[in-house]
Amino acid sequence: MSRLATATIHLGALRHNLARVCEQAVGARVMAVIKADAYGHGLERVARALSDADAFGVAAIADGLRLRAAGHRQRIVVLSGPDSPADLAEMRRLNLDAVIHHDSQLAWLAADADPRPLRVWLKVDSGMHRLGFPAARVAQVHAQLAAMSNVDDEIVLMTHFAASDEFENPLTHAQIEQFEQAVAGLPGPRALSNSAGVLGWPGARGDWVRVGGLLYGLSVVEGKTGADFGYRPAMTLRTRLIAVNELKKGERVGYAATWAAPEDMRIGVAAIGYGDGYPRSAGSGTPVRIRGVDSAIVGRVSMDLITLDLRDVPDAEVGDEVTLWSANLPAERIAAAAGSISYELTCGMTRRVLFVED
Ligand code: PLP
Repeated sequence: MSRLATATIHLGALRHNLARVCEQAVGARVMAVIKADAYGHGLERVARALSDADAFGVAAIADGLRLRAAGHRQRIVVLSGPDSPADLAEMRRLNLDAVIHHDSQLAWLAADADPRPLRVWLKVDSGMHRLGFPAARVAQVHAQLAAMSNVDDEIVLMTHFAASDEFENPLTHAQIEQFEQAVAGLPGPRALSNSAGVLGWPGARGDWVRVGGLLYGLSVVEGKTGADFGYRPAMTLRTRLIAVNELKKGERVGYAATWAAPEDMRIGVAAIGYGDGYPRSAGSGTPVRIRGVDSAIVGRVSMDLITLDLRDVPDAEVGDEVTLWSANLPAERIAAAAGSISYELTCGMTRRVLFVED
């Protein structure tokens, strides 16, 4: 199959979104979170577009290596590393910041004879119970790190929110309080908010914000799109119709024959499927646009193909453009139909999709 599925990455949207984050989180430094290949948008191109960010956040040392190879000189924070003593040497070599969240990492640092100072973010578990030291241990761990001659003097104090996308959720209030108690009296910048924290928790922005989704114009706030907050989607996903078929009333479509034509009608077949990263869980009724007109999936998503209701697009023909998500069809709507979040959709693009920039 030729590569008809195309993801267009809008560099202007990425730049706009960074400027919008700076506007909303005024006074805070911005870490652009570009892990998972920049949420599927492409690590190098996104880093280039967001080169004004104060730091980059990644999940793997290999990403730091790619960014250094591309010439980026900002701080690069490995959000959960080092993962082994050997990682420490590599992180020093590449001048990557470490997130220290566990005793094993403290032991590796203590045993490390390398004199080069490592920049450290000390992670506090304020209630998410994923990574981080419990609040009661933070002062002691901070003292331990501060006493190490091969740890940079400035230790950033960070935590991560579990439910900041729910603007009324008391868990975030409790996390903020827990964090503040844990770090009271300790020197160093504070870093609390992710995207939803920037949007909904202005009191929690601290000295650094760590923002991913909003930079791609995506929101995880239920029922809201990035555009609702002034952000622009950075990815448009398109393909083309490769067949148009006539169905008789009652004829069934696709694997497991889950959908039957309610009347005599035409359906379109478009070249994209879960092999490209389009979610298989997007069932009948999931919106698409054909020639700029709203339409919907009928039947199951297969590996290479989706089948579409053409009743509202009478002129549709083979070769027509089909948009899967865009500024006019937010990925959040597709995610809602697929029981997922927009981040998972953009992260899921496979190598078969052709990426272009505009
Ligand atoms: N900070 C940490 C520690 C993260 O793991 C993530 C992403 O999961 C972020 C910040 C960015 O989150 P968001 O994309 O919602 O802004």
